[in-house]
Amino acid sequence: MAWDNERLLDEEADEWLSSWGYTASNLDHEGFVVDKTLLRDYCKSPPKPTEHVGGYYMSVMKRNTPVTKLSHSYSALKQFDNCPKQYHMQRITKEIKSSSNEASIYGERVHEQLEQRLKGGKLTPETIKYEELCQAFESGDGELLVEQELCLNKDLVPTGWWDNDAWLRSKLDVLKLNGTTAGIGDWKTGKYRPDFFQLELFVLQVFKHYPSVQKIKASFIWLKDMKLDSKTYQKKQEPALWNKFFARVQRIEAAAEASNWPAKPSGLCPWCPAKHICEFARI
Ligand code: SF4
Repeated sequence: MAWDNERLLDEEADEWLSSWGYTASNLDHEGFVVDKTLLRDYCKSPPKPTEHVGGYYMSVMKRNTPVTKLSHSYSALKQFDNCPKQYHMQRITKEIKSSSNEASIYGERVHEQLEQRLKGGKLTPETIKYEELCQAFESGDGELLVEQELCLNKDLVPTGWWDNDAWLRSKLDVLKLNGTTAGIGDWKTGKYRPDFFQLELFVLQVFKHYPSVQKIKASFIWLKDMKLDSKTYQKKQEPALWNKFFARVQRIEAAAEASNWPAKPSGLCPWCPAKHICEFARI
């Protein structure tokens, strides 16, 4: 395929990409944009063989292309706070994938068993000790919802989990709706490290998805110790909670804008999936 160095049309770029098995749309889906300006600048100097140009183009896109779509969740915001470099490698360039370990596999298994139980199934010998807890959620008035996937778009309007405009996603383990009040429960199988910001995001989702709700009691349920950490939130607190959330999102958007994802080595590095390729890893 011949490149016109003076007039690099979108169609040409798309055609070239498709010869590599990519399309502009699937690159966009992966969080990359087709940056034709970079390629055009490169092509201005003496003409280069197609393979050379294409290789350069792909490496530029992989290295430092701007982000087209950022979406957020509690775990993404927490990951950015822990280490922006890890966030970038996992969520933007996708060089690394989150890895599971014994604790996370156990956590997922317990969550699944509790979900099945609250949907009418039975607990297993491993989780039968939580039967009373499940009954407590089932008792009393109101509608019990399990593993609710709540998603908002950038205008804070409810949208589908996999819709193109999905912007803020939260999965609620247990949600009890009762008129103007609601209860949220989040199962915890790990070490005791309460971060109420997570509950605040759940609360914000419920206020948006269920506008009649005025008061929410949100709880972490620490399953190992059978302990509860609860806080009650009123609808009038919503603007302040959104401001807190926006401040954290703003930090990520500023990093994306500046393409600045500094490493933040810490005691978490030994569990980082990038530890073998990160020159800053503290292991
Ligand atoms: S190894 Fe440490 S510094 Fe490097 S990306 Fe992972 S968490 Fe960040």
